[in-house]
Amino acid sequence: MANYLNKILNTKQTPQNQPILGTNQVANSAGGYSFPLDQWKRLHRFLVLGSEGGTYYITEKALTVQNANNVMACIQEDGVRVVREIVTISKAGRAPKNDPAIFALALVAAKGNLAARRAALAALPDVCRTGTHLFQFAETIQNLRGWGRGLRNGMANWYQTRDARGLAYQAVKYRQRNGWTHTDTLRLAHPKPVTEAHGAIYKWVTHRDDSAWAQDIAAPNDEALAFIWAFERAQQAQDTATVIRLIEAYDLPREALPTQWLNEAAVWEALLVKMPLTAMIRNLGVMAKVGLLTAMSDAEDTVLKRLGDAELLRKARIHPIAVLSALRVYGQGHGLRGDGQWTPTARIMDALDNAFYKAFQNVEPTNQRVMLALDVSGSMGGGMIAGVPGLTPRDGSAAMALVTAKTEARYSMISFQNQLVPLNISANMRLDDVVKAIQGLPFGATDCAQPMLYALEHKLKVDLFVVYTDSETWANPQLHPVQALVQYREQTGIAAKLVVVGMTSNGFSIADPNDAGMLDVVGFDSAAPQVISDFARGVV
Ligand code: CA
Repeated sequence: MANYLNKILNTKQTPQNQPILGTNQVANSAGGYSFPLDQWKRLHRFLVLGSEGGTYYITEKALTVQNANNVMACIQEDGVRVVREIVTISKAGRAPKNDPAIFALALVAAKGNLAARRAALAALPDVCRTGTHLFQFAETIQNLRGWGRGLRNGMANWYQTRDARGLAYQAVKYRQRNGWTHTDTLRLAHPKPVTEAHGAIYKWVTHRDDSAWAQDIAAPNDEALAFIWAFERAQQAQDTATVIRLIEAYDLPREALPTQWLNEAAVWEALLVKMPLTAMIRNLGVMAKVGLLTAMSDAEDTVLKRLGDAELLRKARIHPIAVLSALRVYGQGHGLRGDGQWTPTARIMDALDNAFYKAFQNVEPTNQRVMLALDVSGSMGGGMIAGVPGLTPRDGSAAMALVTAKTEARYSMISFQNQLVPLNISANMRLDDVVKAIQGLPFGATDCAQPMLYALEHKLKVDLFVVYTDSETWANPQLHPVQALVQYREQTGIAAKLVVVGMTSNGFSIADPNDAGMLDVVGFDSAAPQVISDFARGVV
């Protein structure tokens, strides 16, 4: 055959700026070709990573529209399945943020068929677990459909299925978001006062000013109403001792207090006793700033004990990103807006570092030879993971890789652009140091075939390649990543597998969906390391 034909018809070697013949590859954002991600897998990426901040190539708006359209396509195929996927991710706390799950649930509740809409509304209490979540849901859905009876009943259910004490807590702690309050949602939902206390709480929310709550009356006997009474007392408190007594007696959360009390160490000390873990992790800097959380303090002991409790982390749905974020903010010794300074303690930094790994679902070692390959090209330095300022896909990929590195005995961690990039990191380093090391690297072009080519060139025996990337590969004029993997398998006789850890919610993958030895997982799904391990061991 003429040479020009051979060049075109070669499926073993295709330049990355052309699709591999006979595949359904599509142009990616970088001028290369990748496999289009299956719509359900893209739904998974969206539910975990969201679209906040966009990517290096795709604006936040465009990425959001793409993902919303993808959710719609999934709803058209099987809306009930969409609800199932949402609940699976949201309920287990596998995503850094709940926003995409709430958004997708509202889409199903608005655009699904009858069965799907019913499933979505039935899942409302599972997905919208706080008042804030409910406000977000209401805000999204009001732009998509009218307030029909099914929707009103679904929202009423959110109020009716809570016990009165839980409802009082929601009403006090989550009072408003984006202009939405419980007054708005109660007026739309018209829930039944399933107990007398429920009725009194609804009344307090909707008619707070002209109720008797604000007057100087004794605490009600009912536990739920006493909580609201304590909130009202705290609004009028004139001294620290009163505020502390109310916190101790009624378990008031931080949100129940006027901000003037939140500069006092004694107030935070009282709050810390029953503080939810999420709030504790978020407020480490504040507690340090006010002088409570100092080196060798009792408060430091309390924080260390809780951070070390895997069961507690799991129950509170603490996501690894929340811990990583705290490690960065607390570790820098000053607030994001520059308000106040503190000295991070080494013990808390180490405890956060440990908690990061504990926050992932349990991971079984594969006992295989695992190459962890980080795409550190320019595009991985753009956009942000789950809307965390300053946390790029590139930083996140290092943190993710470390989870597997800590688990495996035989691993190698490399980083690449269109060539290998030297990177000195190991599983024994603290996370913030690893992220710093990554951030110091230069930016460059992208060739996701590099890990396999590197292993071939250096005769490394690899059972599993794990590539952390946005799959925006383009820079190899000879061959695609999957072709490099096929070469590797042929030349070594090892049936090496490839896992692509998607670090953005775009629609591309370097993994061939028709090759059973390749798998897509989602970066910062807290179940991802375990899924990788299951796949490598042939469990799934
Ligand atoms: Ca890139």
